[in-house]
Amino acid sequence: MFRRMALDFDVGKALKLVRERIQNATQKRSKSLPQIEPRLVAVTKTKPVSMVLEAYNLGQRYFGENYVNELYEKSTSEKILDQCPDIRWHFIGHLQKSNVKKLLKVPNLHMIETLDNEKLAQMLNSSWEKMQKDVRLKIMVQINTSAEESKHGCEPSQSTHLVSYVQEHCPSLDFVGLMTIGAFDRDPALGTNPDFLTMRKCRDEVCQALGLKIEEVELSMGMSNDFESAIEEGSTNVRIGSTIFGARSFQKDSSSSNSEQSSISDKEQTKFKDAAASEHLLKTSLQSNS
Ligand SMILES: *Cc1c(COP(=O)(O)O)cnc(C)c1O
Repeated sequence: MFRRMALDFDVGKALKLVRERIQNATQKRSKSLPQIEPRLVAVTKTKPVSMVLEAYNLGQRYFGENYVNELYEKSTSEKILDQCPDIRWHFIGHLQKSNVKKLLKVPNLHMIETLDNEKLAQMLNSSWEKMQKDVRLKIMVQINTSAEESKHGCEPSQSTHLVSYVQEHCPSLDFVGLMTIGAFDRDPALGTNPDFLTMRKCRDEVCQALGLKIEEVELSMGMSNDFESAIEEGSTNVRIGSTIFGARSFQKDSSSSNSEQSSISDKEQTKFKDAAASEHLLKTSLQSNS
């Protein structure tokens, strides 16, 4: 019992701290950028329903998941349906066409952040249309700003094309903004992450080509390791997991470990394995101490 408690992560404290850090970073943002309060998406992948409930009870409303099966299971669990009527799910993983139908059945699906090709746009559009909802489906276009092959997303040079495709051919989709994962393990001492600058450039191009205002196009960028700098560079949507819920151990339960692919690169998976390994070490040392 004691051991378990010693390892338990204080979600309340972590969430409060993250919110404060978000506010401070928002104040440091250049005045030339749209002063939009960033939305905090709490990323619960690999974490249990109990942690979703805990954060929800502390006022958190936006939650992110990157596996369709895991999202479907959590969002349809009795406890979430009962106790979280106001929850808003963001899908932030790589989406395969075979999973679209299941994803769209997720109750309280708020946004899909990872649209990256026309075929997928077509499919989301027609599937959503058939469901006859009274709102359009919010989507973001994912951009592969770091040009790493392991990452999904359309090329920055293709972003205007894809956004205009959505605007012209997908009346059931509501284009909200652009999303990137960005390079991992970038040394902040090297200055601003070029991925964030690429995102701003993409947004400028999209806005100019399609006659949109930059206030109308959100930027989803920034995770645990870089969300403050992302906000200073104009992020309006940060996706934060491990800083709120603790390090992930990368062993996923069998129900959600099938053929789906994560949007996270192998390199980051290694990082997570390292985190899991150090968690294991900690556990072992706590055990040998008792
Ligand atoms: C897991 C994940 C996150 C959150 O990562 P942390 O480093 O734990 O904050 C954000 N975005 C995407 C797309 C993810 O898959």
